[in-house]
Amino acid sequence: MPQGKIIKALSGFYYVFGEEGTVQCRGRGIFRKNKITPLVGDEVVYQAENKTDGYIMEVKDRKNELVRPPIANVDQAILVFSAVEPEFSTTLLDRFLVLVEYNHIQPLICITKVDLMKEGFSKLEQYAVEYRKAGYEVIFTSSETTEGLEELSPYLEGKISVFAGQSGVGKSSLLNALRPELDLKTSDISQHLGRGRHTTRHVELIKIGDNGLVADTPGFSSLEFTEIDPPELTYCFPEIARLSEDCKFRECLHVSEPKCAVKAAVEAEELPAYRYKHYKDFLQEIKDRKPRY
Ligand code: GDP
Ligand code: ZN
Repeated sequence: MPQGKIIKALSGFYYVFGEEGTVQCRGRGIFRKNKITPLVGDEVVYQAENKTDGYIMEVKDRKNELVRPPIANVDQAILVFSAVEPEFSTTLLDRFLVLVEYNHIQPLICITKVDLMKEGFSKLEQYAVEYRKAGYEVIFTSSETTEGLEELSPYLEGKISVFAGQSGVGKSSLLNALRPELDLKTSDISQHLGRGRHTTRHVELIKIGDNGLVADTPGFSSLEFTEIDPPELTYCFPEIARLSEDCKFRECLHVSEPKCAVKAAVEAEELPAYRYKHYKDFLQEIKDRKPRY
């Protein structure tokens, strides 16, 4: 039986994209029995009735599942920040990174609107060096001049990506610039991308390039750390996780414990002070929510 990926779910139909093109499928009773609701992003096995219609027979195991927007098997989150308007913020970036890491999704940092930068670019480049050292990819783009888009495009190939970032940073403009054939006005995509939406919630994967799929709704819109426990926060900062292997205590939270390799790295200026500050601030936020250990 043919296999494919659900790229759109609407009114009880699942649009499955596979080798046979896009086939409009219905679920069968098996889903009610197994309590599985197929999601956009799901890999499915379907039975074709004819060239355009079929039935979903099986949903493959998911590697992950986002709630908002409801998508399975997300590979990558493109964290979009603008160089200016609104101003780039490491606090907000670190918040997004923690949530993306917690969901085991690969982040890509994209700083856009670089054409609007008049000064202060060296500061942004310094941040890029530091985030790359932590283990992240950082790309500078402009939807206006198309600068950096050639660098960004290959990251989308063969993956399911979601864009994330504050309103107004340029997510829809990027999507538009990456897919000129979409030929939608920015405002139309913005509507898809979560502003002023008036129809019922639905999400769709848009094809970009040869085999990239991008969600038309931004992810990680809630920036609360509702599920993260204090010891898990270390693993949401990859360079802190690496350093923590040398902490004296295995349960070290890197605040007041003796012989902490993370604090030592901050003092030696190997770990940027702002990354450590954000770690501590987020930890406090999580502790204030949770009963203390
Ligand atoms: P979104 O809310 O993240 O989807 O942001 P939009 O894509 O709607 O962009 C917000 C505003 O920034 C719009 O007025 C865009 O025209 C503008 N904008 C977006 N990207 C760029 C860019 O690369 N350069 C410039 N100069 N303006 C941009
Ligand atoms: Zn420590």
